[in-house]
This record gives sequence, structure tokens and C-alpha cells, in this order.
Amino acid sequence: MYETEREDLIKVLRGKGIIDENVLKAFLKVERHLFVPEIIKPHAYSDVALPIGHEQTISQPYTVAFMTQALELNGRSKILEIGTGSGFQAAVLVEMGMKVYSIERNFEIHKNTQKLFDKLGIRAALIYGDGTIGWEEAAPYDRIIVTAGGPEVPNRLLSQLAVGGKMVIPVGDRNCQAMQIITKVSGKEYSKKEVPNFKFVPLIGKQGWKSE
Ligand code: SAM
Repeated sequence: MYETEREDLIKVLRGKGIIDENVLKAFLKVERHLFVPEIIKPHAYSDVALPIGHEQTISQPYTVAFMTQALELNGRSKILEIGTGSGFQAAVLVEMGMKVYSIERNFEIHKNTQKLFDKLGIRAALIYGDGTIGWEEAAPYDRIIVTAGGPEVPNRLLSQLAVGGKMVIPVGDRNCQAMQIITKVSGKEYSKKEVPNFKFVPLIGKQGWKSE
């Protein structure tokens, strides 16, 4: 179902500068309509964020593709995602052959996405909890991707990143964030690139925003 819509979405992503063929291949395979509520399935392949309930969203396809491309994946990496949400981003990473750990702070969302992954046979470790403190048990991670916007880069996440690893995280105020692409050069040294103008739901937790 929706094959033509998926192919059209790939053209849109190419037009916006997504050039990593492995990312584009994964977008062709992972069926976004399976990750959104029934009533909005016809809009699943529009390049927009969509509501998934509990005041949360499935991120815009371009944003997912941009962040995935920014991770510069090659070979099988161990990845920590903060903000499982619908599970679409995690499913794209699994489709690309990654070993994925993903944390979600909303229990209902966590439970629903676990059910969906069981049904679709997607193998990822889904964890319920506050992702701003990471998941020490499986650290270090080759890549960390944060899919909610925080006021700062949580230092527990930096310490769980492997040397040579990359983290992609939107940082800013509640209305607008810059995407930080961080490389851990050594135990204490980091290099950073920033791309402005993203808008995410808030990262809420010990090293994020306080819940309202
Ligand atoms: N990656 C998701 C996807 O593919 O659908 C999009 C995630 S949505 C934009 C952000 C998610 O982050 C929400 O489900 C929200 O509940 C979750 N979140 C916010 N703060 C969090 C935290 N501290 N730890 C884990 N999840 C968090």
C-alpha cells in the first residue's frame, strides 16, 4: 500500500538535500502509515509532522531523514534514541541494520509502540524512562539521536557516547532549536556543527525541561 506516495516522498527528500542512499532506501521500505493513527493515514506521506496523541508528534520525514543522514552511519552501529514516540525513527534505523535502544518517557506511548513493534516484528530494545539520563546499562553507544528539543546537551548522554561517536540533538528554547551534530573526538574533546531552525516537542526530564 502507498508505494507511489512513498516514491514521491523520496523525490521530495532528494529535492531537500538528502543524498544518503541508505537513508532513502530505508524510507522506501518503512511504511510510515503504519506508525500514525488510522484517521491520518492518508496524510502519512506528506512531508509534515503529524499528531500521534498525548500531545506528541511523529517527526516530519525530512527531519528524520536529515538526522539519520547526520549520524553518518556505516556498518552496524549501536544507537541510543531518546524519544521513541511512534517508533518510526527507530524503525528506519533498524531497517538500516542498526542495533537500536530507544527510550520513551510517556508510558502509554511506550506500551503502544512496543505492541506495534511486536506486531511488525521490528527488533529494538524499547525502554520506558527519562532519556535525559540515558541508559547506562548498554553504554557506550556509537551514535545517540535525541528526537525532542532540550535546553542543553545532557552531560550523561555525552558520557555514554563512545569516543569517535556522534550525537544529533536539537537544542534551544521551547519554540525553536538548532540541530547540534556533535562528534566525541576524545574522552574530553568534542567538535560541533549547528544547523538552525528546527521545532520539536520538549525534551522533559532531569536534564531537560520541567513538565508543566
Ligand atoms: N522519534 C519519534 C518518532 O519517530 O515518532 C518522534 C518523537 S516525538 C517528536 C518526541 C518524543 O519524545 C515524545 O514521544 C515524547 O514523549 C518523548 N520525550 C520527551 N522527553 C523525553 C525524555 N526525557 N525521555 C524520553 N522520551 C522523551
